Amino acid sequence: MSIIDDALHANQTYAAQFNAGGLAMPPANKLAVLACMDARMDVARILGLKPGDAHVIRNAGGIATEDDVRSLIISHYLLGTQEFMVLNHTDCGMLTFKDHDLVERLKRETGTPAVVPAAFYAFTNLDQNVREQVMKLRAHPWVPKQIPIRGFVYDVKTGKLREVSAEHAKGYAG
Ligand SMILES: [Zn+2]
Repeated sequence: MSIIDDALHANQTYAAQFNAGGLAMPPANKLAVLACMDARMDVARILGLKPGDAHVIRNAGGIATEDDVRSLIISHYLLGTQEFMVLNHTDCGMLTFKDHDLVERLKRETGTPAVVPAAFYAFTNLDQNVREQVMKLRAHPWVPKQIPIRGFVYDVKTGKLREVSAEHAKGYAG
């Protein structure tokens, strides 16, 4: 069996016990989370969320890309979320490479350049990355000013969250 077949098998067990078919579409806790895709982060359990409670938007690095801004705008305006969290974590894979090196490797291995993705958003400073995503969201003209947007680092060794204060933000230029 393939890995996907294993997942489908697990779904049979899940569906046999399923009892959440009555949940409403708008998140009950009115929370939206932008998190890294790291496999060690079980965002729902980390934040005490049940199915139906929150939007969890994930990508490599928890980066506020155009598509994530799109999702958050829909999340707020159409589905009523009122607070946004940015969630990064220690030992992130995005700290382990440089965009340029990955692009060169891909061109070498595939024999061709590509227009997209324009950036992979690798970073070298975890806290600064969190601050930049918060600032990008905060600065967006369609993100209402009254929405709290707070950034956090999850420690993969302890399970604890640490808030990244926005006060020390410096040098953000984009
Ligand atoms: Zn990560």
